[in-house]
Amino acid sequence: MTSARPRVAVVGSGPSGLYAAAALAASDTAVDVDVLDRLPAPYGLVRYGVAPDHVKMKSVIRVLARPFGPGEVRFLGGVTVGPGPGAVPLPVLREHYTAVVHASGSALDRRLGIPGEDLPGSIGSGAMVGWYCGHPDHGVAPRLDVTGVAVVGAGNVALDVARVLARTPDELGSTDVPDAVLEALRAGRVRDVHVLIRRGPQQVRFTPVELRQLGDLADADVVVHDDGLLDAGVPDDVTDRHERANLAVLTEWAHATHGTAHRRIHLRFLRSPVRILGTDRVTGIVVERNVLTPDGRVRGTGEEETLDVGLVVRAVGYTGEPIGGLPFDTATGTVPNVAGRVVDADGAAVPGQYVTGWIRRGPTGVIGTNKHDAVEVAASVLADLPALPPPVHPDPDDLARVLAEHGVRPVDWTSWLRLDAEEIRLGQARGAERVKVAELADMLAAVHGATTGAEPRR
Ligand code: NAP
Repeated sequence: MTSARPRVAVVGSGPSGLYAAAALAASDTAVDVDVLDRLPAPYGLVRYGVAPDHVKMKSVIRVLARPFGPGEVRFLGGVTVGPGPGAVPLPVLREHYTAVVHASGSALDRRLGIPGEDLPGSIGSGAMVGWYCGHPDHGVAPRLDVTGVAVVGAGNVALDVARVLARTPDELGSTDVPDAVLEALRAGRVRDVHVLIRRGPQQVRFTPVELRQLGDLADADVVVHDDGLLDAGVPDDVTDRHERANLAVLTEWAHATHGTAHRRIHLRFLRSPVRILGTDRVTGIVVERNVLTPDGRVRGTGEEETLDVGLVVRAVGYTGEPIGGLPFDTATGTVPNVAGRVVDADGAAVPGQYVTGWIRRGPTGVIGTNKHDAVEVAASVLADLPALPPPVHPDPDDLARVLAEHGVRPVDWTSWLRLDAEEIRLGQARGAERVKVAELADMLAAVHGATTGAEPRR
């Protein structure tokens, strides 16, 4: 059946892609929207980035799922757009759509650029978060047969990683972590989690709610190492609400007597990692003490200390991956754009190509930030549609044929719901809303109608 309506592909089914799909589908313009994702499951960073113990935050999936349904937005899971075997090249995809909105996020971990960074036991937060969130690309457990772990960074991802490592397995049992993750954490020996913060308490990027949460763990104490910066309490000249809230809670912890919990989260201010030690695996990390400069930056003092850790997780932000055929700004890790319209080096729009979310603006903001972003990008798409040439192959069946030629059998929404139901079934016995199926083969078995064979754990 040939469709005369404009057809828009949204590549990526994380919050940014799904908010864009919703904004397009809700418009008065008649437009067919397909959402493509390389995984058989939707929701991107909500499923694979939001920490498992942030259950409430995940409830946004109810909103994100709304556009899908018979005759509405189509989901094409298991479809990779790009070069390589089994993937659909962007120029091929382009022939089937009037416009393409890229919402592929910022998937790469930033690096520290210090010696020892590539030793086994030194990983990016992407691998760590992906593992405990059950991402099929990150099935290998990090080394947890160690008592000390360093987490580098002062953002919310660093807090997520530290918190998950410091929680008891019982606390995590009611979350959606895969059984294998729970078992690995149960078998682990982690006692001291050192969060390495290169600047001071006033410069952290933690949000107060997330910071405070560290104080609510069942069997972990927070130990603040502030080099005396918090002695004076919250200075009067701090006007930012978040800064004041962070400083208040940090000051309270800095002056508290230490408890007797089995695990400790050490917040080590003014410490920069300079070397990761070890020959065939991480055995320690050398940090340099910094002092704050008046402009809120830091200067190294040359004074070093070694922390006894067997695992280093760098949580120093993410960067985007270039999208083959589109301009890319390596400095920001984003695709250059104006109001979501991809532009080349001369500022001229690349017709029919749009970006939204982190690949558009960089890896900052909370889930809701993507909504505003997506509405703006959808408005650009809708304004341009009348002037864009129709697709070379407007018939959706042609796309199905091309995907088949590339060996791709897309997962539609109904099929995803089978995996969804299987995860909810697995969750029942653990008292969890769901338990993730993490192996790709098991995910595919479930979408194609088989149960995973796994019995819910009691
Ligand atoms: P982020 O907020 O940008 O934090 C990155 C941290 O890494 C900064 O503290 C930065 O320190 C530090 N850093 C960078 N390079 C470093 C180096 N070479 N050595 C030491 N430290 C270094 O990034 P993120 O934590 O990945 O979070 C990404 C976004 O997702 C943020 O907007 C975050 O709020 C959001 N998020 C939200 C939640 C939530 O709401 N619960 C959870 C997770 C993520 P400087 O400040 O000194 O540069």
